[in-house]
Amino acid sequence: MSTLWFFDGVGSCAVTDADDAELYRGEVRALLTGLAGSELESGFDTALQLDEGKVYLFRGPEYWRYDLATNTLDADYPLLTADRWGGTGDTPAATAVTAAALRPGFSAALFCDSEVVGYDLGQDHATGTVTIDEAFPGMPPDTAVTAAVTTDAALYLFAGDQYFRVDAATGEVDPTSRPVEGNWPALSGFTPTGGFTLRNDVTADGLVLSPAPVDDPYASTPARGLTLDQAHQVLQALHDQGALQMAPPSRNGWVDLVEPRLHGVELRYWNGTVTQASALRNLDPRNAVALARLAAWASTTYGVHTIAHIGVNGDGSGARTDCHGQGRAVDLAGLAGTTGDSSFELYVLRDWGARSVPDESDPAGPRRPQWPPGARELSFRLESDPDASSLAAELFAALYDVVAAQWQDRDDQPTGAAPPTRIGERSFVMHPDHPASNPAGSNGREAHANHLHLQIGKTGRQ
Ligand SMILES: [Zn+2]
Repeated sequence: MSTLWFFDGVGSCAVTDADDAELYRGEVRALLTGLAGSELESGFDTALQLDEGKVYLFRGPEYWRYDLATNTLDADYPLLTADRWGGTGDTPAATAVTAAALRPGFSAALFCDSEVVGYDLGQDHATGTVTIDEAFPGMPPDTAVTAAVTTDAALYLFAGDQYFRVDAATGEVDPTSRPVEGNWPALSGFTPTGGFTLRNDVTADGLVLSPAPVDDPYASTPARGLTLDQAHQVLQALHDQGALQMAPPSRNGWVDLVEPRLHGVELRYWNGTVTQASALRNLDPRNAVALARLAAWASTTYGVHTIAHIGVNGDGSGARTDCHGQGRAVDLAGLAGTTGDSSFELYVLRDWGARSVPDESDPAGPRRPQWPPGARELSFRLESDPDASSLAAELFAALYDVVAAQWQDRDDQPTGAAPPTRIGERSFVMHPDHPASNPAGSNGREAHANHLHLQIGKTGRQ
């Protein structure tokens, strides 16, 4: 979760959550303990978190870098902003950055009183300086921004004891300033002179330094329900925050990734024996968002570092026009990860589809090698298998819930009929225990003994 930090310039801060619940008020060095004894403990202008682990602290023409994992200031700082933030030498950022924020599609915005220096993090170079009312039409000209914080819903720009709200989804500025006092109860008696959004938790015990999820501007919308434009916005945000790296846009609005890596999880092709490196290209952006969310969940929850697939890329030639050809589908074959000291590999075939099933007419009797043909509701076979690995039973069940929430489940519509299915019920998610049966064909459970089929949108051309 994200927390909003406000500084007073002389060493104190107020920390709130996105709903303005107070989490902390006191000395900054009590949370960022690595500041103790440094010249920053008496204050700095503002801060900016660029990736999970590093916070940049600005004071006058200089900046420092703070490592959250070790809770220490990195050595060899300060440096001059103008020297290391490319192209800022002849901008007001060379003198002082008064506030800073990440903006999806905009990379970073460095506020310098009433001017804004755009900074492209991918190019690592300034994109130009504009006035505050040019950057945010509707804001009064000459508004000197003293602090900027972001939530999923909005960018808040503070100017002394007043603030402005910029809607995150529409970019629309509410041109009416409002007093901080009374509207931000957690900041009562506190006038921010700097601030930033930290993607880490703060609790009564202090700063929680575990990695926090990367902000996704449409986190509550299933990937299947995103418009292509919204999906692109999510991917741009993930790109800006380093969770994935998109290649320059290709034809059709399809997405190519520079590396087949999302949230640190690598996608590898499974040839039936081993996995091998593969590229991620020609993805429908909604499918890429679903994959990114799956990777983030799997990495955070089960320490997954590799997802094995047997088909994910769209057909660049355009000849194949089903959901796979259009880059809207994933055939997921397995997962590998590390939990605690032990590592694991789970394959849909070996650990699920090739295992025994209960005898439907005699559930307590001897198990059978496979479901007899025929369409009917079934059960998740590992649940009744006393010899199944408990990790496989738990992880595949949890995985199913995650994929059914992002890709198509009961129907092929963006909204998706509720409630979500469970394994064994009819669904557009195909797997070894699916009700559909087609022993000789490709659209029954028999053809999905070795993978989960996941799709966005219709099965045929869309
Ligand atoms: Zn498939």
